[in-house]
Amino acid sequence: MTEELAPHDAYLRECEAVVVAATPGGVILDRTVFYPRGGGQPGDTGMLDWPGGTAVVTDTVREQGDVLHVVAPEEAPSVGTAVRAAIDWERRHLLMRTHTALHVLSALVWRVYGAKVTGGNMEPGQARMDFELDAMSVEFGREVEERLNAMLSAPHPVRVLFLPRAEALADPDLIRTKVSLIPEHVDPIRVVAIEGLDRQADGGTHVADTTEVGRVRVVKTESKGKGNKRMRIELDAPLA
Ligand SMILES: [Zn+2]
Repeated sequence: MTEELAPHDAYLRECEAVVVAATPGGVILDRTVFYPRGGGQPGDTGMLDWPGGTAVVTDTVREQGDVLHVVAPEEAPSVGTAVRAAIDWERRHLLMRTHTALHVLSALVWRVYGAKVTGGNMEPGQARMDFELDAMSVEFGREVEERLNAMLSAPHPVRVLFLPRAEALADPDLIRTKVSLIPEHVDPIRVVAIEGLDRQADGGTHVADTTEVGRVRVVKTESKGKGNKRMRIELDAPLA
């Protein structure tokens, strides 16, 4: 099993590691800062380097209990090589901002409009989220945008908790976000808590405070059928 560092510290940009397996798809390390695609968040990209070589990591995916760093076979370091594994930090940080923005958006739409999330997807700096709403309009999008930015610009620390499963299953916020669907062997359950706003069982990487998200624009609102409305958001470029 790969030791995963990102779930404990999303701000780690690189680590030392050893190649423990190589497959046609890529390499598995004993430990990694790379986040494997999952929970709606894309996998990290970046670089492996070692004395005498480098390999570009074009994606990261989960393979059973391991994390597979996708690299071209001709670039792959051989088993036993000690490497430095470094993520594309700019892209990852943008994903962290995007992911936190989505959690706040889902909390806002639930609290103010009573609508649950039915789906979503994110790319660096842009995302979509679907809601159990009957109506959607440009005006509604503007209203949500205003409220969302007001929530983000007030400081709300984002914390990662590892809750005992029994405790997580009894938490009203987590019940709403279907914590019970998490496979039974998962204990403790990783929870991302945005102070005063939202708690969700979540494996992804987030910024440490909502103020780090910056400004978010609602760029599109559309209907995907009865009781299913979609909102697309984009993040402003990071503050210098
Ligand atoms: Zn999430």
